[in-house]
Amino acid sequence: MPVTSPAKLIDADRLWARHMALARFGAREDGAVDRPALSVTESEARAQLVAWGREVSLSPFTDRMANLFLRLEGRDPSLPPVLAGSHIDSQPTGGKFDGAFGVLAALEAVQAIAAQGGRPLRAIEIVAWTNEEGSRFAPGMSGSEVFTGKKSLDEAYASRDQAGILQGDAVRDVLSRDVDIPLRDSGFPIHAYIEPHIEQGPLLEAAGVPIGIVTGIQGTRRYRVKVTGEAAHAGTAFRAERRDALMAAVRMIAAIDRATLKPDDTKLTVGLFQVTPNAPSVVPSEVLFSIDLRHPENEVVDAMDLRIREIVEAERGPCTVELKQIAHAPSLTFPGEIRSLIVAAAAGEGIPAMDIYSAAGHDSRQLHYVCPTGMIFVPCRGGISHNPAEWAEPAHIAAGAKVLANVIWQLAR
Ligand SMILES: [Zn+2]
Repeated sequence: MPVTSPAKLIDADRLWARHMALARFGAREDGAVDRPALSVTESEARAQLVAWGREVSLSPFTDRMANLFLRLEGRDPSLPPVLAGSHIDSQPTGGKFDGAFGVLAALEAVQAIAAQGGRPLRAIEIVAWTNEEGSRFAPGMSGSEVFTGKKSLDEAYASRDQAGILQGDAVRDVLSRDVDIPLRDSGFPIHAYIEPHIEQGPLLEAAGVPIGIVTGIQGTRRYRVKVTGEAAHAGTAFRAERRDALMAAVRMIAAIDRATLKPDDTKLTVGLFQVTPNAPSVVPSEVLFSIDLRHPENEVVDAMDLRIREIVEAERGPCTVELKQIAHAPSLTFPGEIRSLIVAAAAGEGIPAMDIYSAAGHDSRQLHYVCPTGMIFVPCRGGISHNPAEWAEPAHIAAGAKVLANVIWQLAR
């Protein structure tokens, strides 16, 4: 067997140069990256990835969601491959590292493994999932959701962007621009999936630790609450007789805020609030507001779900209330065997690492349900992401790629 630490062959300069090169696709004046899912810009970035892959004899594949795969063949092509990667679409003012780091670290890791000389037993595939961000086609993660069977192709294709373009048509446009990239079916068996990503939070930087071993992903529940009262004249309607939807909504939100203060790592956001008719001298007849609730432990989120349902009933007064849960993603814990591999890979390279959980969602959420999955975080400056100021240090990027290289080598050898 050749050497057993492809980490030694990671080229930090090449990896950094590729980050800067990929960031030119959709580069904005302010340093941000604007690379919408399935846009021409993303297609060009995709072609660049394919070109880098072909330089080192990786075979590109795609599927009916335009997920992109670059395959290093294994000694036994019939075995399920090891997958590593993330996404290359961005928010309208996205950074250079969110998503891109996962894909480019995987490319660098596979290039290092190939450079060792021997072939792994299993194939290794780099993946760039389509539409992780969801800023063009909502909801996000449609590529990994279709791949894992969580969502049907028809449902994903029916999503429209602001211009009215169907996601299905945008996918077909991207596929038509591909040159010699074979189309495969989705949902083939995967041996394991590893996703490197910037932390998008401040903990690793604060601790001075370059590698985060992600223990799991925080759960979310999202709701829409519609409070219905009755419009009335601000001067003539007596307070006792009003059915004021705004006053009821405000009581609800204040009570939900108090009820979710503990445990103090609970995240509650009411980011949308619409008043009807929204006129200064009319008692509001209707209020629509959103609730976004997150906590790493399912029991906490589930208990708060019950509390929120009680509160909206208790505070509605003479109004009626309709609470609709529009999304529920349970918290999940990544399997111990993958986390142990990451721990060992970091220790083997003498790179400090610590456990951390993911406060944001990632494609790993979908893959977790179909194969052993894990994530590797690296610090980002000030925890800032989805912002032109998003930044990761070259040394941390390289450390992440080294750990990834040894993890996927262990999984594939
Ligand atoms: Zn991301």
